[in-house]
Amino acid sequence: MQERGSITVHTENIFPIIKRWLYSDKDIFLRELISNAADAISKLKMLGYSGEFHNSGEEFEIHVTLDKEAKTLSVTDNGIGMTAEEVKKYINQVAFSSAEEFLQKYQGDDVKQQIIGHFGLGFYSAFMVAGKVEIDTLSYKSGAEAVLWSCDGTTAFELTSSGRTERGTTVRLLIDTENEEFLDEVKVRQLIRNYCDFLPVPIKFNGEAANRQKPLWTQSPSSLKDEDYKEFYSYLYPLDDEPLFWIHLNTDYPFNLQGILYFPRLRSDIDWTKGQIRLFCNQVFVSNNVEEIIPQFLTPLQGAVDSPDIPLNVSRSFLQNDRTVRRIADYITKKVGDRLKELHRDDYERYVQCWKDINMFIKYGVMNSDKFYEQVKDILIFPVALGESYTTLKDYLEHNKEKTGGKVYYASDTGAQAPYIELLKSQDIEVLLLDAYIDTHFVSFLERHNSEARFARVDSDLDENVLSKDKAAELVDPATNKTRSEQLVELFQRQLGQAKLKVRAEALKSEATPAVLLLPESLRRIKEMTALVQQKPMEFLDDHTLVLNTSNPLIQNVQRLADTGRDDALVTLVCQHVYDLALLSQKSFDAAAMGQFIQRSNDVLTRLSNRAVE
Ligand code: ADP
Repeated sequence: MQERGSITVHTENIFPIIKRWLYSDKDIFLRELISNAADAISKLKMLGYSGEFHNSGEEFEIHVTLDKEAKTLSVTDNGIGMTAEEVKKYINQVAFSSAEEFLQKYQGDDVKQQIIGHFGLGFYSAFMVAGKVEIDTLSYKSGAEAVLWSCDGTTAFELTSSGRTERGTTVRLLIDTENEEFLDEVKVRQLIRNYCDFLPVPIKFNGEAANRQKPLWTQSPSSLKDEDYKEFYSYLYPLDDEPLFWIHLNTDYPFNLQGILYFPRLRSDIDWTKGQIRLFCNQVFVSNNVEEIIPQFLTPLQGAVDSPDIPLNVSRSFLQNDRTVRRIADYITKKVGDRLKELHRDDYERYVQCWKDINMFIKYGVMNSDKFYEQVKDILIFPVALGESYTTLKDYLEHNKEKTGGKVYYASDTGAQAPYIELLKSQDIEVLLLDAYIDTHFVSFLERHNSEARFARVDSDLDENVLSKDKAAELVDPATNKTRSEQLVELFQRQLGQAKLKVRAEALKSEATPAVLLLPESLRRIKEMTALVQQKPMEFLDDHTLVLNTSNPLIQNVQRLADTGRDDALVTLVCQHVYDLALLSQKSFDAAAMGQFIQRSNDVLTRLSNRAVE
């Protein structure tokens, strides 16, 4: 047999187009050829089940071989094979018409992106790297004759008889000079591993096993142990710590999807733009790029999702608007919510342990998806500042209702805000710890969704919960007609000499702290959000208030010392020092301020020691 002909194609110059357009992602040709080989094997297996083919016990395998001298790369399978008629039908016509359709459809600039994960070009992607391609094939059908098809990258093909005696197909590529990297063993082995590691057919590369095969996600969850999931995780992410927990996804209605999602320990510097979940289509790796399918807040998750129902040869905007893709995203979100609820219900202690690793993305998730918020709102928990326990917003409001009304006290830094937290704790009021950078937004979000709750950072204001009515402060000095409190405020304003600084005198219920600074809640939140957007550290709020604690002995002493007029220099020193200490708990000093502070500390101590030895 000897036949020549022209491939049915309307775009005469299809090969240059394939080469040019697919330039950025040439690697995929190997995935396409191996997928075809695997399909040919599974078709034959199916025929085996239906009795149309009898397998005499041979192993089904795919062989990839390189011949550097001949400059060829071959993919061989012992699958179904093709008759001459089938080659004409499937290779000459079908394949090209789909290639043509594809090229006509995507004549835009973003074509490269769409090509990632594209399967339609299939067999013809071989021409991205090869000047000449041969198909040597023998069908399983009894009495079939082997045929050799070859094409040198024009629309002309040649079909002749072949001496092949084994059933199956070999696709042989004569690699172009500019694509010789595909004759490199290391490169080809890496490609097989990357794309076909989980293909459930053994792939031999130059005679050696080259893929792992076992895709854990296709196995039934009941047959798997924790160890299996952990082992699979460390295979996928060899450098990462053990995952916290995982979800095994498995559905066949209304779409087909399997997968395993792992919740890793999250570092605070999550990169929300870089997904690590791998997308597969029938166990063939497609991409790491699953943004459209996995909701963005789940980007930090890891694992594998496999679905033949995700349209691959389409644009991003199409994907985003595709109904199945949206349903898949909803399905995954719901499963994540279910898993969290299950952990909360069945193993609360572990849930609490995991909270610090997962709270960021849960918070991000509830702020981005109302459905997710509704699902998990009752299991959002908050650590209690300077305590061991966790509470929910509902419980907090209930426990503290009598003292705080709807006010929710929170701290963002237990170190800097310790005096305020202690003050509230001493009055039996709980303070929540909200110290993730996302919390400024989260707090506003919670207020919008819980009308009864008003969040106030512990250093934003002082109210009757921590203030006592101090009779002494109200005493009026007949000479000046001013209360002791008013006099104290004036003293500090005079000594500090900062016209804009607001000073208040209050009797705190605890006498421990001489002075605290207050930063107004709403203004501070605005500054925090701006800082977040600009990715800069937050500037310190100039608009702060110095609150002097009239119950504190140091404050009382300095006022008395000022009354006597005996040592004005010491009064100045102490006033400034009190202010500095209050400031210091909120911000770090620059070099000049720190220098002055240390100098003054030394002066104060010198004076004290002088007095002690007098
Ligand atoms: P697709 O695989 O998406 O159908 P391809 O262009 O890759 O498109 O292949 C076209 C057709 O050629 C396949 O559907 C199949 O029928 C046939 N084919 C390709 N490779 C093989 C092979 N190794 N063994 C048997 N048939 C093959």
